Amino acid sequence: MSTPSLLGLSLPALEEALAPLRLKAFQVRQIYRWMYNARRLHPREMTNLSKTLRETLEKSYSWEPLLLEKTALSQDGSEKMLFRLPDGHRVETVYIPEKERKTFCLSTQVGCKFRCRFCHTGAMGFRRNLTGQEIVFQLLFALNRYSLPPTERINIVFMGMGEPLENLPALKEALPVITDPEGIAVSTRRITLSTLGIADKLEEFIRLFPAVKVALSLHFPTPEGRLLYMPAQRVHPVEESLDLLRRLKERLRHRVTFEYIMLRGVNDSLEDALALEKLTRGIPRKFNLIPFNPFPGSPLLPSSPEKVDLFAERLRKSGFVVTVRESRGQDVQASCGNLFALAEETTTLEEERPKEG
Ligand code: SF4
Repeated sequence: MSTPSLLGLSLPALEEALAPLRLKAFQVRQIYRWMYNARRLHPREMTNLSKTLRETLEKSYSWEPLLLEKTALSQDGSEKMLFRLPDGHRVETVYIPEKERKTFCLSTQVGCKFRCRFCHTGAMGFRRNLTGQEIVFQLLFALNRYSLPPTERINIVFMGMGEPLENLPALKEALPVITDPEGIAVSTRRITLSTLGIADKLEEFIRLFPAVKVALSLHFPTPEGRLLYMPAQRVHPVEESLDLLRRLKERLRHRVTFEYIMLRGVNDSLEDALALEKLTRGIPRKFNLIPFNPFPGSPLLPSSPEKVDLFAERLRKSGFVVTVRESRGQDVQASCGNLFALAEETTTLEEERPKEG
């Protein structure tokens, strides 16, 4: 069994993990604040703890629950990190620095079972869910790596590998640590859950975290068209999530973002824009158009920038806020799942190479 780690645990879980050391409540809280508020990831940096306690912590727990295996830095400053988990699986996190804010794109699963045809992660299949601790640690590690103080404006998007609502128990563990004012202290309003729409779980999530923004990965203007590219539509019809969002619109504290990937000749006509408007009627909304990032083996192509502009203009004419997602980090293959795929290829090659001698 691997050595347990404290990094990423909630306060109650931390109390439980530290129980064998019989610490006083204030000492547990000190460790909690060092990890999350001061963002120090090793006991040697927790300078107001006694030397004996620091040494005990160092010996008794692992301080690298996820190992940074690979990074890819883009010319625009985005950085993709590939972590190796204790069981050998790998997961990606992306850091996107902008003048006004820093955004972290976190993963919730290793791979994904839904196999959307335009998604690199989906092509890999599902490996396992991340724990709440592993979700928090991605953020913690990155905050420490970029020396971001608690005063820095931070956005978190659950848009990395996996479908977050398929791993709701871990999200329920992670979000209280991430948003705790004594913990990592990210404002709930600065967090976005991106989901393809699993209606019953989405309802539970909104009930628990009404201030977290919801982005629905709609991508197609009709349920029939969606079914061709997103097999999950069969099991989780998007109409159910749309009805839910109509029903809960008073409870939501923000407009829903509809994510829409722009695929050449597939869903990028002006008729598609009108159908999209119709499908989402009755929901306070905005649209985020996403240029498709081609990946090896995919026959799909991105819409031309002109098509994307025309599509956006059509929606704006109806009074909607429309953003076109900047495809950041393209020079480092920074679309979801790419670094992971490269690492897998490298591993396979290394494993397949005949041993010398
Ligand atoms: S787009 Fe999201 S839900 Fe679809 S396969 Fe990729 S990670 Fe899974």
